[in-house]
Amino acid sequence: MSRDQEFAARPDGLITSTETSPERGSAMDCETVRQILFLYADNEMDQELCSSFAAHIGSCPECQREVSRACRLVMVVRTSCRCLRLSAPPRLRVRILKSLPHRQGTTP
Ligand SMILES: [Zn+2]
Repeated sequence: MSRDQEFAARPDGLITSTETSPERGSAMDCETVRQILFLYADNEMDQELCSSFAAHIGSCPECQREVSRACRLVMVVRTSCRCLRLSAPPRLRVRILKSLPHRQGTTP
């Protein structure tokens, strides 16, 4: 049979090498993930770093939770900062104070 010959001709090394592929050193541990959480949440992470980061997040629910919490925190800080800037810009305050009419001696 020609089929048997095909199987026999196939080298065993090829099959086993694809099955046991070790991680290429890109495995990130939880500690590293926690340290760079906010880079990710703030969109300031390298693409290379981000891929290994995402790989860990995909397999670690604990870190996944931490990341979502960090994202929420960053969003809150951003929105609150924007509100502060809108409500009380120091330059505008100075301009308003300068544009006010001079005091007319009614101060005690
Ligand atoms: Zn983790």
